Amino acid sequence: PPVIASLIEIQARERPERIGLSFEGRSFTYAEMNARANRAAQALVSLGVGRGDRIGWLARNVATFWDVLFGAAKIGAVMTPINWRLAPAEVAKILDDARPKLLVGEAAFIEALTAAGGGAGVNAMLLETGGADCFDALVDQQKDAVQDYKPTPEDVAVQLYTSGTTGLPKGVVLPNRCYFEVGVAGEGAGVIIPQTEDEAILHALPHFHVAGVNFGLMAVARSMPIIQLRQFDPAAIVKATQGDSPLSAFLVPAMIMMILEAAKSAGASLEKFVGVSYGAAPMPEPLLDAAMAAMPNAVFTQFYGMTETTGGVTVLAHDDHAKGKKQRVSAGRPLPGCEVKIYDPVTGVEKPQGETGEIVARSWFVMDGYWMNPDATKEVLRDGWYWSGDAGYVDENGFIYVVDRIKDMIISGGENIYPAEIENVLAKCPALLEVAVIGVPDERWGEAVKVVAVKRPDAEIDAAGIVDFLKGKVADFKLPRHVAFLDALPRNPSGKILKTTLRGAESRG
Ligand code: AMP
Repeated sequence: PPVIASLIEIQARERPERIGLSFEGRSFTYAEMNARANRAAQALVSLGVGRGDRIGWLARNVATFWDVLFGAAKIGAVMTPINWRLAPAEVAKILDDARPKLLVGEAAFIEALTAAGGGAGVNAMLLETGGADCFDALVDQQKDAVQDYKPTPEDVAVQLYTSGTTGLPKGVVLPNRCYFEVGVAGEGAGVIIPQTEDEAILHALPHFHVAGVNFGLMAVARSMPIIQLRQFDPAAIVKATQGDSPLSAFLVPAMIMMILEAAKSAGASLEKFVGVSYGAAPMPEPLLDAAMAAMPNAVFTQFYGMTETTGGVTVLAHDDHAKGKKQRVSAGRPLPGCEVKIYDPVTGVEKPQGETGEIVARSWFVMDGYWMNPDATKEVLRDGWYWSGDAGYVDENGFIYVVDRIKDMIISGGENIYPAEIENVLAKCPALLEVAVIGVPDERWGEAVKVVAVKRPDAEIDAAGIVDFLKGKVADFKLPRHVAFLDALPRNPSGKILKTTLRGAESRG
């Protein structure tokens, strides 16, 4: 089976002249992409990066990402893209965990990090500056040389960061083997097969998300040109769909909603969309209906999965989206190469069909574990099964329904937020006695952060004061949209805060 490096090498050999990537007015053929990857590999080697070394990446979606991902794969180095929307202190924690040999990023992000005292001791290089510490310039100076190293399926290729119930970052270790399914044309991402020779992938999903990497690699494997957008912008997407080429894209539900709105206000049609894949958060049925109506030519595919499983473990095919089919609100059926079951979270015994339990998955595309964190790994990987922290059931036709989240995680606009990340910061707020963070339903973002706080006697703080306290310490997308003050937090007899009670109070208004 192919390793990541071979995906681009095969294209360079078989379709050297075909455009594989376009970005801000520049286009690259597969031969050029492979040559740039070879140069990136040389540049990495010249900086002392070798097999198993982490390369921190702190940039929006620039074309160079693919050069470095493929280049790193050629020498067995590990691409570690970091969410650039995180606050510098959060990025610093990730760097402390990943300990990269090299950090490459956009100047503004690296400067903010340095100003906050983060990334000390890490060799940092900048993108697009042209200066002495410019990484792209270094890549351009290298020879298009083939590396002696032969990457193996077990070589770690990508390390992506998620948070967790403790609020501390965890590096999800994904070897080349996890990407076989993405790379093998016609399988895996499975139903995603270009319908015409000129179908391109509009890539607006962040590179630091599992699907951001997957969909780029899948595009290369399927000879589909990538139209790379630096960041998600609904108006730019609508504009891109007004050209001649048929497009497909992976989008999270909140993005789909914004694209529909942008198309409406521009009076533009979305008929050039021939493929829409979506996932990362629950899809509300009314939004699905609106999307299917606005994109009548699109094949719709839903994926359900997580970073730890290299993305999808189940897929809902287009035909199952038809109106009147009950499975259109399910997450679909297991992908080839993956078993998905429902286990009782307490006894660990498989649940009968129709009964709700925890969704577990087993496959060769499940992560190796969390980087240098055997305890957290043991919690989720048991006897080869990955415990998702999602509650669901399976119906008589094998469709999996995701009904709730067992893990204490909020998904807002497709971004995961762990309450502990915010609670840990607010614990240092002198005006507060105690605090709990929950997710509440939000029509636009799926869920929104709500802070429930108890003030210290005679302390003065209001909702705006809480938001101000958090600003700069956590990413903006984690800031609460709702704040409530209580006299005391509900607790169980052993003192644990009863979040279900808080959430229940919320749903009753
Ligand atoms: P991430 O690791 O960021 O991909 O987040 C994984 C989590 O997102 C899952 O455990 C689910 O809670 C949620 N999720 C992903 N895909 C879907 C989907 N298709 N429907 C509902 N929830 C989803």
